[in-house]
Amino acid sequence: MFRLPVCPHCGTVYRYKDTKEAIRKKENVCYHCKKKFLAKRFPYIFVGALIPLVLCIVINIVILSRMENLQLLPLFGVTLVFLLIIYIIIPFFTKFKKTEDKEKK
Ligand SMILES: [Zn+2]
Repeated sequence: MFRLPVCPHCGTVYRYKDTKEAIRKKENVCYHCKKKFLAKRFPYIFVGALIPLVLCIVINIVILSRMENLQLLPLFGVTLVFLLIIYIIIPFFTKFKKTEDKEKK
């Protein structure tokens, strides 16, 4: 599950950098087989984001329960780190889908 996407036509594995580029462009042409595919983050990213999100909430609660005075900075810091983690792992939860062939007879 936790791996970089492959071309739906020829199975070429995309590197992290190429995947980010593919997500940005949405519609892509495989550099290997020259066929079109779409980069889709959803709904797969929810699975990947759920674990860091739950961890983030748990850590925030732990920090909050140990605080004598309410300080928002540590909470913001933790949340920011987890948002960064989610951002970094997005390519691992992206799937490439074949473009719908609308030229079928
Ligand atoms: Zn391909």
